[in-house]
Amino acid sequence: MSVSICTMGELLVEFLSKNYNQGFTQPGEFLGPFPSGAPAIYAAQVARLGFGSTLFGCVGNDDFGRLNIERLRLEGVITDGISVIDKAPTGTAFVSYRNPLERDFIFNIPNSACGFFTADHIDLGLLNQCQHFHIMGSSLFSFRIIDAMRRAIQIVKANKGTVSFDPNIRKEMLNIPEMSQAFDYILEYTDIFLPSEGEVHHFASSKNQQEADIVQELLASGVSHIVIKRGEKGASHYQQQNGQTQELHTPGYSSKMVDPTGAGDCFGATFVSLFLSGFSAEKALQYANASGALAVSHKGPMEGLSSLAQIEHFIAQQA
Ligand code: ATP
Ligand code: MG
Repeated sequence: MSVSICTMGELLVEFLSKNYNQGFTQPGEFLGPFPSGAPAIYAAQVARLGFGSTLFGCVGNDDFGRLNIERLRLEGVITDGISVIDKAPTGTAFVSYRNPLERDFIFNIPNSACGFFTADHIDLGLLNQCQHFHIMGSSLFSFRIIDAMRRAIQIVKANKGTVSFDPNIRKEMLNIPEMSQAFDYILEYTDIFLPSEGEVHHFASSKNQQEADIVQELLASGVSHIVIKRGEKGASHYQQQNGQTQELHTPGYSSKMVDPTGAGDCFGATFVSLFLSGFSAEKALQYANASGALAVSHKGPMEGLSSLAQIEHFIAQQA
């Protein structure tokens, strides 16, 4: 089945520290600009797999914005829903690695062009063609975009479409009060929830609740599918069938870790598009693990995307 998926939120360029522990408090070398933004990486990975992919957002009228749009267009993403605005520059992120797994960020997102995206920017003709809407928690950085997300959810649901949600929590963004309130609203409409292992406790209803209990509660509240990303350990899928919770655990693939940025986005894009196109949860999870493993083996947020053929080749090699 052919699916058309849309997502909405930040488009930015990213600069990566060249050395570990370089930090931001002294001059150092950075590599970039790389096209980035979690929804942009997700949209590009959906397109790489050959599915319809539309991204809604804003860039500034500058070369960083043009770099982003051009790259997404080359990937096959429908970019007509990206507005170019004059009143702010394209967003940026600086990333400094402490080690291959731990990163610190300096984000310029809410005050950049993507922070000016509103519900009025949504191209309704494009949105009405999408059967699925994917939301990244990292995109919920302003009341304007949260309002746009609510509007998009209503439209996609009225069209009998589905919604997926990856909390993608960044510690640098947790102090944005609008964000946690929006989480509750979005979860109410979420069909496929894709937190990473360390994020699950944010969705606990009481202190010290264990992961299994949180999963149970979320399934009981109406989330149909929960996929927990566990880094190199792989991922798990939970759903309720005939009153019973079904669990599935798939191991990760071994991969040469070069840059963790984008793993969760590529994983999510691969799971959601393959699952919606008719793959079993187990096979979609296996392919998503491969997609995440391939993503971490490349430097740069959007440099580790993979096609279906590349994923299948990688899986065959590891067998
Ligand atoms: P992100 O930092 O992009 O937000 P995330 O926390 O959302 O990442 P992770 O669990 O880090 O998600 O990664 C998503 C998936 O990518 C994992 O479930 C796994 O399949 C794969 N993956 C991530 N890291 C590795 C690794 N080091 N080796 C192999 N596979 C990995
Ligand atoms: Mg993530």
